[in-house]
Amino acid sequence: MTIKPMNIDPTHCFIAGRWAPCEGGETLALKNPSDGTVLCQIARGSAADIDRAVQAAQTALDGPWGKMTAPERGRILQKIGAIVLENVEELARLEALDVGKPLKQARADVLALARYMEFYAGAADKLHGTTIPYLDGYTVYTLREPHGVTGHIIPWNYPMQIIGRSVGAALATGNAAVLKPAEEACLTALAFGEIARQAGLPDGALNVVPGLGAEAGAALSEHPGVHHISFTGSVGVGKMIQRAASDHIVPVTLELGGKSPQLVFDDADIEAALPFLVNAGIQNAGQTCSASSRILVQEGVYDEVVRRMSERYSALRCGPAMDDLDVGPVVSARQKDIVERYIAQGGDLRQVAQGQVADDAPKGGAYVRPTLFADVPPTHVLAQQEIFGPVQVIIPFKDEAEAVAIANGTDFGLVASVWSRDGARQMRLARALRSGQVFLNNYGAGGGVELPFGGTGLSGHGREKGFEALYGFTTLKTVAAYHG
Ligand code: ADP
Repeated sequence: MTIKPMNIDPTHCFIAGRWAPCEGGETLALKNPSDGTVLCQIARGSAADIDRAVQAAQTALDGPWGKMTAPERGRILQKIGAIVLENVEELARLEALDVGKPLKQARADVLALARYMEFYAGAADKLHGTTIPYLDGYTVYTLREPHGVTGHIIPWNYPMQIIGRSVGAALATGNAAVLKPAEEACLTALAFGEIARQAGLPDGALNVVPGLGAEAGAALSEHPGVHHISFTGSVGVGKMIQRAASDHIVPVTLELGGKSPQLVFDDADIEAALPFLVNAGIQNAGQTCSASSRILVQEGVYDEVVRRMSERYSALRCGPAMDDLDVGPVVSARQKDIVERYIAQGGDLRQVAQGQVADDAPKGGAYVRPTLFADVPPTHVLAQQEIFGPVQVIIPFKDEAEAVAIANGTDFGLVASVWSRDGARQMRLARALRSGQVFLNNYGAGGGVELPFGGTGLSGHGREKGFEALYGFTTLKTVAAYHG
């Protein structure tokens, strides 16, 4: 298979501006989750390939890339965004085939990638240090400088969006990046490498090495030539990355998922809330770090919300990504197994509704019926652990204090939302909720690239997106000049 329209061979890695097989030439099978067939072979990058990529990145920093001005970097990012926009349909098709997400969701991801490039292109020359009033005879100022070589280990659920937010911010600030996409979905990461090349990004400023987590991923997180690691994925691997980074005292940004609640009060506009309550749980088949998997509902509107969410769930249809139904397959047979084991653990719960798998959906596809549980105790495993599938639990509460206690009662803290018409309550809860983002009378706010994103607790640390990401991808130098 050739990755169209970029004409790339996916068994190749992108290192130092060139496409070539990985050392040893080994490959891995990439599957189509919509039908279980093998889509193509992809490169199986090794520690040796990661080493070459890190060296290429360092060479780029020591060469033309390191000497480029911020406006020049911005211009290249702008061009990358423009090429992405010229290829929306093809990139969306690749992402849909690879991840299994319905085509319209994949298309939204392509547009988000382009937006990240535009945003970081525009921001590249607007990041600056400060001057600090100090002792007589001194002038003191700060410089924001790139870390150097940045490692980006990304998951399979939103490859394009996560490339946009992490690689985009790293390049805007003058770092040189090594990107290790997930073994389950790496086609758009490879396409992105080629787009960056076509946009004129200097050789080595971006390198893409697909491969297994335990091989290429581990090699990248342990490499002494890497100066910053940004990781999005599971809590278990996040801990390994942070441990590996500690060997070289390298800063890490970890985005590890959540158990994000939506709090629905008696005075909420239920009609407005309903689409968000459901979509935030089933979008991308629930495989979203910021998915809302817990719906907390006050007693006065509890029965109505359960009934109306159930109606929506019963109407949901799952099918192949290309059929563009409400829900696609989960990413793999392994993921389907994990999610269905969680659903089975809800055997003691009140299951109120399930969506349907389309009759003509291929039997080999990784389809999971979206499943809604009600009256779920806040301590139940389904209300505590991240499932990463189309499963939501509804939990009743009496008053504001109880709602906050339940909402904050998991190890995670990524996203939360409050549905209420009471402005004072909105302000109180925005402070009280332990969460990296709080939405008032919405969920996700359309995912704007401008909005800083990241968590607390097991959801991770560091902030991506928006201007905050630029601070994360730079280090601050203080210069104190004595001139008498
Ligand atoms: P999931 O369980 O959802 O697949 P992971 O955290 O396993 O999420 O994967 C996210 C990313 O981390 C992928 O690119 C994967 O290859 C990578 N990865 C997995 N294991 C390791 C590891 N030991 N070291 C570094 N990266 C890893």
